[in-house]
Amino acid sequence: MNISENAVVLFHYILTDENGVQLDSSTDTTPLAYVHGHKNIIPGLEKAMEGKTEGDTMKVTVPAADAYGEYQDHLVQEVPRKAFQGVEDMQTGMRFEAQTESGPVSVVVRDFTEETVTVDGNHPLAGKDLTFDVNIQTVREATEEELAHGHVHGPEGHQH
Ligand code: ZN
Repeated sequence: MNISENAVVLFHYILTDENGVQLDSSTDTTPLAYVHGHKNIIPGLEKAMEGKTEGDTMKVTVPAADAYGEYQDHLVQEVPRKAFQGVEDMQTGMRFEAQTESGPVSVVVRDFTEETVTVDGNHPLAGKDLTFDVNIQTVREATEEELAHGHVHGPEGHQH
């Protein structure tokens, strides 16, 4: 069958950035499984999968806006060092969960002084155009239970 809404798709991928640097890959592990049309994967990739079928391969470059979004300067903020009480060994690159009005956000420490810490709430892949080498393994109808949950069950998906 061809990929359309409510298809369960298993695919292998190699993800590279604009410079051809490999960021991620499924080829050493199990394929990625998702339910098509349920925003399980980034919008630009989901759109490119539409109509494809088992055995198809493709290389698709998804602009940042259709991947993890543009890099947003306002998500970089300076906060008082005292908000990090209990953190004795502050280092750039450390990740924290920040509580915001719209729920918890993962932030990374970009810089810090005695008084302040500069944190960045952008997704690590925000602002990047992403290229996916895709190899579609299987395409099947989702079960009613999978549709109710919005994710794939079985060996490649959730076991519950
Ligand atoms: Zn489930």
